Amino acid sequence: MAKYFGTNGVRGLFNELDPALAMKLAQAIGRYLKGKIIVARDCRLTGGTLKASVVSGLASVGCDVIDLGIVSSPTAEFMIKKLKAEGCVIITASHNPPEWNAIKVVDGNGIAISKERGEKIEKLMEGVLAPWDKVGRITRYENATKDHINAIKKLVGAVEKKKIVLDCGNGTAAVIAPALFKELGAEIVTLNSHLDGKFPGRPSEPTKDNVKELIITVKSTNADAGIAWDADGDRVIFVDETGEYVIGDKVFALSILWNEKKGDVVTTVATSKAIEDVSENVRYTAIGAPYLCEEMVKKEAVMGGEEVGGVIWPELCLAKDGFMTGAVLLKKLSEKKLSKWLEEVPEYHNVKHKIPANSEEKKQIVAKVLEHAKTNKLNYLDVDGVRINLENSWVIVRASGTEDYVRIFAEAKTIEEAEKLVAEYEKIIK
Ligand code: MG
Repeated sequence: MAKYFGTNGVRGLFNELDPALAMKLAQAIGRYLKGKIIVARDCRLTGGTLKASVVSGLASVGCDVIDLGIVSSPTAEFMIKKLKAEGCVIITASHNPPEWNAIKVVDGNGIAISKERGEKIEKLMEGVLAPWDKVGRITRYENATKDHINAIKKLVGAVEKKKIVLDCGNGTAAVIAPALFKELGAEIVTLNSHLDGKFPGRPSEPTKDNVKELIITVKSTNADAGIAWDADGDRVIFVDETGEYVIGDKVFALSILWNEKKGDVVTTVATSKAIEDVSENVRYTAIGAPYLCEEMVKKEAVMGGEEVGGVIWPELCLAKDGFMTGAVLLKKLSEKKLSKWLEEVPEYHNVKHKIPANSEEKKQIVAKVLEHAKTNKLNYLDVDGVRINLENSWVIVRASGTEDYVRIFAEAKTIEEAEKLVAEYEKIIK
């Protein structure tokens, strides 16, 4: 078992993921990836010191480091191919509160490092330094955001002028989103668009409750849409012109509808059935960005995504890119209003429950549900917990990777049906 790596990198509070550990991990990452490595960070207050450790750690084992400074995660990942790097280390805790930070690692093919590969990296934490004359060079690259904007503009093409409210949440969206949308020709209204590592404007996760100001501003300014990102810019949610919040699942479903390329779509087992309804073929993976990327490469998928509003546009790179997704929304608004687009996405309701369980109980519960599915010849998937697919609904029973819980998650056409499903599976478990 990996000691530090979770489903997507190493995460911790500052007294856990401290500069000393960051340096040790970076040395191991350098020994694993070798060669030229990109380093980037978000604007968290602990980001500067952790980045200094990471840069130093990588260079000390002989990696040449290209420091991009404060940029969004999708920008950093986009630069891997462009700068012909062997990988990328991003210091960001994504949507988590400001006291958290994390080290996220992506390889030279743009694939995020999974827990399994993280375990291999951890074995390299004790090792020798590079000889004094083979220590890596450290350079800065200042144009990453510009390069990323240009690539998105090229893919999206010409757009009609629309009024968009951008809620950057004081995160790295502030570095790219206002410039991107201005260059695309939109009229913009900005909220929380200065970098601040304490995220004073709103909590970083763009949930409905956290983007109330965006909803109000879209309505009060008669805007065509609102867009909000998490702190590192991979997740994105929309608000339509009537002030309706558009949840991540629907952002993903809309992106599939808007994608000119048709083919396999890859998502995790926790994603809405709406994705199946709008796709030709859906392939399910375990929860976590690394598994999504790995499967997308294997199947040459045309799109990937998660239920929280992270969409991967592989023609750009394998990062969840909230800016590409937002730019495509802007383009599609010239065809019809966002509320009209939403009529094409089937409506589902979901219910989430969690049951306390220690690691032994977690295993037993999941095994019990698998047994139930097999005995009753149900249509099920067991890549991560057990997901049971029914006619117009589904339910998943899954052990939490980080906490002592088993989660039961059901989705159906009505909230009552979803509640019934959760209750039914709670009974089966007991
Ligand atoms: Mg994120």
